[in-house]
Amino acid sequence: MTLTLHSVADTLLGLLFPDRCASCGRGGSLFCAACRAQLRAYPPGSPTVIHAADQAFPLDGAAVAFIFEGPLRDAMHCFKYKAIRRMAQPLAELLNAYLDQYPLPADAIIPVPLHRKRLRERGFNQSELLAHRLSRQSGLPVLTEGLVRGRHTQQQAHLDMQGRQENVRDAFVWRGKTAPPDRVLILDDVLTTGATIGACAQTLRAAGSREVRALALGRSRPE
Ligand SMILES: [Zn+2]
Repeated sequence: MTLTLHSVADTLLGLLFPDRCASCGRGGSLFCAACRAQLRAYPPGSPTVIHAADQAFPLDGAAVAFIFEGPLRDAMHCFKYKAIRRMAQPLAELLNAYLDQYPLPADAIIPVPLHRKRLRERGFNQSELLAHRLSRQSGLPVLTEGLVRGRHTQQQAHLDMQGRQENVRDAFVWRGKTAPPDRVLILDDVLTTGATIGACAQTLRAAGSREVRALALGRSRPE
């Protein structure tokens, strides 16, 4: 209900204030073709599934669409912090185009959940909005009920890899009425160390998933 009202409000605002590109400000769309064309694949030059060969990594693969910089950073800022929910559409189109090019086998998408405290602060889960839009385009169902963030974790920005792993360990629980799907695609907006998607994957595997992969829209350029 709340989501529907927000969508209506967003649509009305869109009519009153025509869209401007979140990055360059050009009128006509929320994320213009020229800015989208500037996005660079992650890692630079050769998009690949990362970490798949690492035995300790609890994922069958994690893919990142773009380097998190420039226009993508601007678009994400507009989406998450200015709470322009309609940004989910052009961003999900980018994810869908990525999946067309580099398919990841999955039965369902599960967005990384936010703790309910963070959800209250922000008003929406950006990964969940992306997942719903991506679902409409890709045809993959979205599951938002089962995977829950049980413990409130600190902001991760100033933690190192080990700190992040400790911070998110046991942060997620599976509360679904049935086991999660056999093959899950975890969706995250911006990937940093991978500690969060790793913790999600461990929880999903413990609950019965056999293959867990992850897709993120962006990640900072490798050092
Ligand atoms: Zn632009």
